[in-house]
Amino acid sequence: MHAYLDNAATTPVAPEVVKAMMDVYTTVHGNPSSTHAPGRKAKALIETSRRTIASLLGVPPRTICFTSGGTEADNHAIKAAVSCLGVKRIITSAAEHSAVIKATQQASDRHQLELVHVQHQEDGQVDMGHLAELLAGSEKRTLVSLMHANNEVGVMVNLARLSALCRDHGALLHSDTVQTMGHYPLDLNAVDVDFLACSAHKLHGPKGTGFLYVNPKLRIDGMIVGGGQERMLRGGTENVAGIVGLAEAFAAAFEHMAEHEAHVRAMKARMVQGLRERVPGVVFNGDSDKEDRLYTVLNVQFPEHPNGGMAVFLLDLEGVACSGGSACSSGATLGSHVLRALQFHDPNKASVRFSFSRYTSEADIDFALDAAQKVFAPAEEVV
Ligand code: PLP
Repeated sequence: MHAYLDNAATTPVAPEVVKAMMDVYTTVHGNPSSTHAPGRKAKALIETSRRTIASLLGVPPRTICFTSGGTEADNHAIKAAVSCLGVKRIITSAAEHSAVIKATQQASDRHQLELVHVQHQEDGQVDMGHLAELLAGSEKRTLVSLMHANNEVGVMVNLARLSALCRDHGALLHSDTVQTMGHYPLDLNAVDVDFLACSAHKLHGPKGTGFLYVNPKLRIDGMIVGGGQERMLRGGTENVAGIVGLAEAFAAAFEHMAEHEAHVRAMKARMVQGLRERVPGVVFNGDSDKEDRLYTVLNVQFPEHPNGGMAVFLLDLEGVACSGGSACSSGATLGSHVLRALQFHDPNKASVRFSFSRYTSEADIDFALDAAQKVFAPAEEVV
């Protein structure tokens, strides 16, 4: 048996998404930019997908720009804020996803921008008092880039509060919502943000698709230029099947959100309880066992143990897929910049992220608990 508990890295593609994409691959051959009937059919699928997503977020369809995923959406937002909207200062956090860390760093290096990092509280949450001080402390045109939920430890910001604070100080707001889109309701009539990022593969859609939400009040340029696709915001022939798959996944996520959430929370609670009982001394980084943290993620710090340095590898050998730090493109784990930034990193103790989805079963959890108990058995039992 195997247990896949790395859903924050990516989720299995839902069968209804595969079906919708296969229908496109097998029946829709036109280039959406072609004016003939097959082209118009492809174009119509893109626009229907855009309308589906926009209506679930309460925004006009033109605010949705399809991208290759979360990384591109984050990059586009940050680069456009700097090159098109006069941003001279960026406030972000050292615990952001590397897409935001590197894009903000690059923007700051290339354009001599002031780059400021907000502090976090002891429990990992953004220190909103410090953010307010930073916002009040400068007249420069500012972009705040803070993620809705952290992908490693699950700490969350209250988007409505963050937005109100940014608006009070005339700052632009980008939020990486990659881990929360499709997992939490989001009504953009009620929360005023400038840019949001979504990645289909975090919500049972295909890899390599996503979108950038751009507030309709803003005028920005494309980051990738070429054909006039996506209303000049992103050149290149659209990934029609991917976009259809994304919309299908998005619609299913919103339609069944409450029931999926209840299921995932139950799986996570089973994992928390099982770990407490079977591996005495575990703690949960960022209080990731708490109700108000991202419910799909549990970040566990195991007690000091000879197997600690190899924990993710040993769990993998037992058939449990989980992660320690975000996976880099080579597949190696480099330790976690997030745990370091939030001061949860302990060189003597292994931290492992388990993450769950609507497809996670009780049997998966029990299997993973057996594996964790085996890997972290009292040292004298380790052979
Ligand atoms: N932002 C966050 C918070 C993520 O978890 C990820 C994926 O790991 C990304 C951005 C990047 O998304 P993508 O894989 O679609 O480029």
